Amino acid sequence: MPIGADRRRMSAYRREKMCDAAFVLENLINHGAMSENLVGTQPLTKHAASNRARVIVIGGGVAGGAAASSLAALGVDTVLFEPRCDAEHASRMKCCGHCLHGRSASSIAALGLERCVRASASAEIAFTSIECAHARPLRSPLALRGMVVRRDVLDPAILNHARTCGARIEPLSARFDASTRTVRASDGSVWSAELVIGADGISSRVARDAGLARTGEQGRRFGIAFDFPLENPAVAQLVDANTVHMLVAVGGYLGLVRDETSVHAAMLFDAGISVREAWMRLTRAFERLEAISPKALSAALENAGGAGPIPFRTRAASSEGLVLLGDAAGYIEPFTGDGMACAFEGAAILLNVVRASLSRGERDLSAVPARYEQQRRIAFAASERRCRRVAWLAARPRLLRAALRASTVSPALARALVTSATR
Ligand SMILES: Cc1cc2nc3c(=O)[nH]c(=O)nc-3n(C[C@H](O)[C@H](O)[C@H](O)COP(=O)(O)OP(=O)(O)OC[C@H]3O[C@@H](n4cnc5c(N)ncnc54)[C@H](O)[C@@H]3O)c2cc1C
Repeated sequence: MPIGADRRRMSAYRREKMCDAAFVLENLINHGAMSENLVGTQPLTKHAASNRARVIVIGGGVAGGAAASSLAALGVDTVLFEPRCDAEHASRMKCCGHCLHGRSASSIAALGLERCVRASASAEIAFTSIECAHARPLRSPLALRGMVVRRDVLDPAILNHARTCGARIEPLSARFDASTRTVRASDGSVWSAELVIGADGISSRVARDAGLARTGEQGRRFGIAFDFPLENPAVAQLVDANTVHMLVAVGGYLGLVRDETSVHAAMLFDAGISVREAWMRLTRAFERLEAISPKALSAALENAGGAGPIPFRTRAASSEGLVLLGDAAGYIEPFTGDGMACAFEGAAILLNVVRASLSRGERDLSAVPARYEQQRRIAFAASERRCRRVAWLAARPRLLRAALRASTVSPALARALVTSATR
């Protein structure tokens, strides 16, 4: 589907198709287009539920995996649906910069995932470097050190942990039927639960089926992530160790981080330009990217993972019998590198709410969604405001360049910039 000059007149139907989950990467890379959905766009036919669980989780990324493992560890009968849990699917890259923000440590501990996360970490992140063409990079130490965690290692590790804690993992995709509040799996089985958790990521199908996504208000940027193996000597020159580099140009930006085997790249770019064009624009702004040959770029893109449109907006993170977790509840901006931290924080809030409900001896989990919504709103208000500010600045490279230049004479401004982008 071409996205070009007439994109402002895009119909509601086309917007809906655009939101349909994972991209056809070939199209995205070469033409700036996307489509495909994990479970199709056909309307759900109604069936009576024949399978029950107390909690059903749709999606086994960090948010769904963290929720399933912590609730199962609490003794709650939990089933999780995730189609990408076999080896073939898991080997497909997820669109993420692989930087785990230091602020997530307490929620990771509360969820009982410390060991799992630490075992998945492949490097420490101690510095950030914000870069624009024709301005000196702003390199600063991070107040809270982060970690490089590969998602193809972390997500399966969390799912394994969930299994160990007693959650049942179904290797299927699933959809939520808002009218019957049941879940239909891709094998045709129909499930019911006291609580359904939509954790199916950005452009969440669950959020859209439940009428919680803000129709017509989704973003115009897309993300893609890929690896350059360190065997290529040119690659090692791109980044300093223990540093996350943010390279900002017109039309998009690139995050680079390095672990023992590769330099990992995550790029955000405007709809209507292809990945290759976005890369070319970055290469024009940052000479050192010329070290990556077109062949090396093509090889890297072969196993890339895409996401979007960004931002993804919802009007609420819950409705009767349903909560949305992680990106499914809304995703504003990757620049701050705290998507995983938000997913863990949301799962920790949900765990507390469910635990309180059980300890009060409540008959069922019907009060959970409203309490989760309230606590989540309070906990996330400040970080969402900050994310919106950063998204605004990251989309204006000329202004950012002026700010970087000014920050060389004003340490206070430099501090404010870094704090706003990384805290
Ligand atoms: C360019 C870019 C760079 C980023 N960099 C960073 C970073 O450096 N650090 C950071 O913390 N965050 C980063 N993020 C954000 C981060 O990737 C997300 O916030 C995080 O993955 C959210 O986790 P999640 O579990 O909510 O969703 P996901 O990780 O997307 O998981 C959703 C899961 O649901 C499954 N699913 C989808 N549909 C269905 C269905 N119908 N049935 C069952 N399962 C389904 C999918 O297979 C998937 O496994 C970045 C994002 C982008 C776009």
